[in-house]
Amino acid sequence: MRTDFTPEQLADSATAVAEAVIRKCVHCGFCTATCPTYVLLGDELDSPRGRIYLMQNMLEKEETPSPQVVKHIDRCLSCLSCMTTCPSGVNYMHLVDHARAYIERNYRRPWSERLIRSMLSAVLPYPGRFRVALALARIARPAAPLLGGMRWSRPLAAMLALAPRRSTEQATQETPRPVQQKGRVALLQGCAEPVLKPEVRSATIRLLARLGYQTVLAPGEGCCGALVHHMGREEQALEAARRNVDAWTREIEGGGLDAILITASGCGTTIKDYGFMLRADPAYADRAARVSALAKDISEFLVGSDLPQGDGRGLTIAYHPACSIQHGQKITEAPKRLLERAGYAVRLPAEAHLCCGSAGTYNILQPEIAGQLGDRKAAHIGRLGADVIATGNIGCAMQIGARTATPIAHVVELVDWATGGPAPAALNLPG
Ligand code: SF4
Ligand code: SF4
Repeated sequence: MRTDFTPEQLADSATAVAEAVIRKCVHCGFCTATCPTYVLLGDELDSPRGRIYLMQNMLEKEETPSPQVVKHIDRCLSCLSCMTTCPSGVNYMHLVDHARAYIERNYRRPWSERLIRSMLSAVLPYPGRFRVALALARIARPAAPLLGGMRWSRPLAAMLALAPRRSTEQATQETPRPVQQKGRVALLQGCAEPVLKPEVRSATIRLLARLGYQTVLAPGEGCCGALVHHMGREEQALEAARRNVDAWTREIEGGGLDAILITASGCGTTIKDYGFMLRADPAYADRAARVSALAKDISEFLVGSDLPQGDGRGLTIAYHPACSIQHGQKITEAPKRLLERAGYAVRLPAEAHLCCGSAGTYNILQPEIAGQLGDRKAAHIGRLGADVIATGNIGCAMQIGARTATPIAHVVELVDWATGGPAPAALNLPG
């Protein structure tokens, strides 16, 4: 596709990357059919191709973004389904990330949006603050229907509705030494997952220890930065990336690391991109690239290990592939193969390529579209009549879990259970 950026504009490396992405798009429109917002809304401007047009126009003219442009970019889930479909290799992720940062710098949102976005970026990435916010949300939950009636407060209502009904325990900090050590791995502690589902970390550490891996929870590491990155808060995202690169570099150069493992695939997509995000920072570029090269989704790591065969207890699992694992990281087989090796019968729902609507903070910021996608996903999964739903991303677990009575567990919890660990907490089984 032809572009009209000036040489001065292209002297900026981030603009040059965006321009190269735009030029690759041949406007074939294949991506429209697999874009969840186009499928729901049927508007070209809510398709990848339409958004690429809008972003090109905004960036070339260096305009103050109009509310219309912001609306269509905000509606994008960053699910990256378009990247899987695109035959031209358009890196939509790098383009939309750049456009979001541009919007954040050049557009003044209405006060209610500024308030909710500031609140989310000040709370969600910090487990201590998030835990307090969840406790308050449980108290305020009865007000959710009232807030849902007013347009400006709908994100608040969505946030209250998503808060788990029960308080959760602290995630374990214990990392037992395996009897015979085969290797040493770091496990991302992150932000939301240890607060919402601390049992995922316990199952991962237990399973890795049985396989002979010493797990390290690197001091100083925290949120991967994805939540704020998707809101266009570039500096905050880069700050999170640098902090994590520092924390893991200390481990790499200390005891050594075979891998950096991630149990929330949304975070994995971002950590695998640290090398790109910090490419222009001479103090971090090399170390960030090394961290990205070591980053692995837990399923990607486990599938190469000598996991014993499990009996699967005769259960059928509906596997929900998160967008961040199938489109962001292009991992499609590993989680299914792990579950099958654990002895479960694995089924995939119809439209497995479409997002469930969680998408970081999307289900809070765009509750109507997210709600429709969530209901559509839960209905497809429900038709499988499975005993348990498995996924590898905390956002999807919360989004789908709010719409189904079927227990939902992380892939790793199910593999742990079938190979000697306790039953996933969501199954509510005695013992
Ligand atoms: S499929 Fe790729 S090349 Fe075709 S319109 Fe979509 S982004 Fe552009
Ligand atoms: S990232 Fe997802 S929602 Fe956004 S344009 Fe691509 S397919 Fe559509």
